[in-house]
Amino acid sequence: MKLKNKVALITGASKGIGEGIAEVFAKEGANLILCARSASTKQIADTLAEKYNIKAIYVNCDVTKKADCQNAVDKGMETFGQIDILVSNAGVCKLGSFLETDDNDRDFHFNVNINGCWNISQAVLPGMVKQKHGSIVIMSSVTGYMVADPGEAAYATSKAALIGLTRALAREFAEEGIRVNAICPGYVDTPMAQSIAVQSDASNPESVKAGIAGATPLKRLATPLEIGDLAAFLASDESRYITGTQVVIDGGSTLPETISVGV
Ligand code: NAP
Repeated sequence: MKLKNKVALITGASKGIGEGIAEVFAKEGANLILCARSASTKQIADTLAEKYNIKAIYVNCDVTKKADCQNAVDKGMETFGQIDILVSNAGVCKLGSFLETDDNDRDFHFNVNINGCWNISQAVLPGMVKQKHGSIVIMSSVTGYMVADPGEAAYATSKAALIGLTRALAREFAEEGIRVNAICPGYVDTPMAQSIAVQSDASNPESVKAGIAGATPLKRLATPLEIGDLAAFLASDESRYITGTQVVIDGGSTLPETISVGV
């Protein structure tokens, strides 16, 4: 169990990738602070605690609110006395053409995706500095960092910003024994991917997902548990000499050089 006796705080743990990460971390022996706005996340915490014989708590947390982030860290410290791992995963994506993206839509992405990661990192880091160790895993994307499709300007900008934040934090906190790395997934089969498919073709979202799978060299979307496996590696001591990197996990979707891929 690569995370035994570690305590991990995971944002966006109510569904999708965050829920998958929580499951893998529990299987690997970590105790969990699961954060999201949905109260149903408590059920996930209770189920994982029982299934894997770990401790898990749910803390209601809107990552756009600094006080919520501080409260999540405080509750975690009260319960466990330490936080070894932060997975900053909470994120949103709403497609919209650039010229029609108003400031509210832009700020919606920037506030959750960039400021949310900023807020939870700022709340967690003082404790990590004090204990002189920690691993932070930031959920970026291939979108923005490597690729982009029409309608993704706000999302792509926010996800690319997280690469900068990853490097800056990795550099600033390396001497404190804290590592910071980013994960850049391609399409992962989650409620967000479903919503993107619906936004692309409301009458046939499954055909959109099938098209994405067909254009991916490994011919499918990733599962949340596969992202969880990578997050567990980056969070664990197995990756002790890795910091400031971004790891792409995309089934080869960014490999093709021409649009004839998939035929
Ligand atoms: P999802 O299924 O929509 O889940 C998003 C999670 O973020 C939920 O747990 C949601 O919880 C939480 N969240 C949203 N706004 C929040 C806020 N203001 N405060 C706290 N939590 C908030 O999305 P997903 O596909 O699992 O994506 C997770 C992360 O992976 C995101 O950062 C996304 O950008 C990234 N990603 C996804 C894909 C993909 O294909 N799915 C690819 C690359 C990167 P509540 O609503 O309960 O608060």
